[in-house]
Amino acid sequence: MTAPLDVLVVGAGPTGLALAAQLRAYGARFRIIDRSLDRVRESRALAIQPRTLEALAGFGVTDELVARGNPAMRLRLHLPRRVVALRLFDIGLTDTAYPFLLFLSQAETERVLSEYLAARDVTIERGTELVRLEATDSSVDCRLRHDDGSQEAVQARYVVGCDGAHSTVRNQSGIGFGGYAYPQTFLLADLEVDGLEPDSVHSYMSGAGMVFFFPLGAPAGWRMLAMRPPDALGAEVDLPSLQEIADRCTDERLTLRDPVWMTDFRLHNRGAARYRFGPCFLAGDAAHIHSPAGGQGMNTGIQDALNLGWKLALTCRGAAPEELLATYEAERAPVGHSVRRFTDRAFTIATSGNPVFRVGRTHIAPRLAPLALRAAKIRGRLFRTVSELGIHYRRSPASTAGSRPPRDGPRAGDRLPDLPRGLQARTAAPGWHLLLSGPPALWPDERLSPALEGRVGLVSVHRLGGQSPWPGVVQGLVRPDGYLGYVARGAGLDGLRAYLDRWLPVGRR
Ligand SMILES: Cc1cc2nc3c(=O)[nH]c(=O)nc-3n(C[C@H](O)[C@H](O)[C@H](O)COP(=O)(O)OP(=O)(O)OC[C@H]3O[C@@H](n4cnc5c(N)ncnc54)[C@H](O)[C@@H]3O)c2cc1C
Repeated sequence: MTAPLDVLVVGAGPTGLALAAQLRAYGARFRIIDRSLDRVRESRALAIQPRTLEALAGFGVTDELVARGNPAMRLRLHLPRRVVALRLFDIGLTDTAYPFLLFLSQAETERVLSEYLAARDVTIERGTELVRLEATDSSVDCRLRHDDGSQEAVQARYVVGCDGAHSTVRNQSGIGFGGYAYPQTFLLADLEVDGLEPDSVHSYMSGAGMVFFFPLGAPAGWRMLAMRPPDALGAEVDLPSLQEIADRCTDERLTLRDPVWMTDFRLHNRGAARYRFGPCFLAGDAAHIHSPAGGQGMNTGIQDALNLGWKLALTCRGAAPEELLATYEAERAPVGHSVRRFTDRAFTIATSGNPVFRVGRTHIAPRLAPLALRAAKIRGRLFRTVSELGIHYRRSPASTAGSRPPRDGPRAGDRLPDLPRGLQARTAAPGWHLLLSGPPALWPDERLSPALEGRVGLVSVHRLGGQSPWPGVVQGLVRPDGYLGYVARGAGLDGLRAYLDRWLPVGRR
């Protein structure tokens, strides 16, 4: 058996890749394995949310994702007698550099993340499957099976199951995965469509059914998503059957051609009973699966990973206490739960055969939805939820408001907004960032050094002057994942010191 690792990452889907990127940035000793020989080539998840783009910007990959994707700004609702065009994401999203939903195939997202890792000498060990694990108090004994049939014993301090819906890590840890399957079957195809206006999401709602078209670009121009008619259950998914559905829902306005991927699938709504069992953690689809309504699945997984990676790395380095790891479940399980609830509601309204929902969908919603979506306040709230910019950890044990927290601006547990623009880029380097607003002369080095002593290289200081998200004299400590751990008003540093002593104690390294 080789020397113990800090972390074994099981699964190189988007969640495992993002976790590996963060572990690499924080210098952890880790391996990343995947049982499949190749990465995903199918489009699967096709939408990247603004918060994910922000979070990945720290690795320098967001510009490439944006360059490859399609930032669709319009939703066109095709109603029985008219088309309503709505601009997406243009209200209430002034505090992000990415106020749009980026359409990009999951295959491309995985490619960009894989190339990022390869450029940093991280090898994704493909054809390597985790077959068994046994957790002790301080580490995990793992058995890996290689593609050539050979087996290997590996010991790791922590194992993270980024191994999808059928997670081996979850099963071996005995963690339940409760929930239910939806009765409907869905059809999905990546293909070309004649008759659609480009650069918009198209939704056709009628008594004959519903069909969506999303702008994709690669591997085909469009993703089509439709509910399978009950009379066609079990039938083969082919171009004629998809064309028939499109004809029914769009009054024969569209021509489908050149499919590159067609499939049918059923959806589940399930969640892991726990995100952690001793030294084993779950992230991404291993922890939660739900309908694709709102494009949340892959995004939630990537953000799970970016919540966990730095915590593991700093704990392994001895720079943070074990207690920090408990905040992963405390912060991310409520997010997973609310995504499951939100996607379930959206899905039920969109697909239910119940006559009340059906009338609502085909008669009431077409009239009310455009009005509601034109109301800036409703739209702003809806898009903050969908964009995942509204996620916060205010109730986390690692979020502390100082004695006189500011009334305006972000609070402890909130994401650091990109306001003034460029603030997120300033705080993107690995580590913690102390933001000090008010006159820079208030914050001389000699005043700060007692609080920061012994944490050089872990906490960077930024004197913001008036270019701050808060008015007046405020201290804000930004965690490595871009959320504020500590916010206080005034120049006193005792609260900051107490926070750092708890979460980054000196002398542990
Ligand atoms: C048909 C389809 C359409 C979808 N559409 C959307 C969409 O429109 N929007 C959206 O947000 N999401 C969508 N999803 C869901 C999205 O693809 C997932 O949320 C996302 O892939 C989750 O990423 P993950 O890394 O957590 O897990 P996965 O992508 O499932 O990756 C898990 C990895 O673990 C590996 N693995 C599993 N077990 C082991 C083991 N024992 N040892 C080693 N490796 C192992 C697997 O080979 C795999 O590569 C779709 C999924 C499917 C199947």
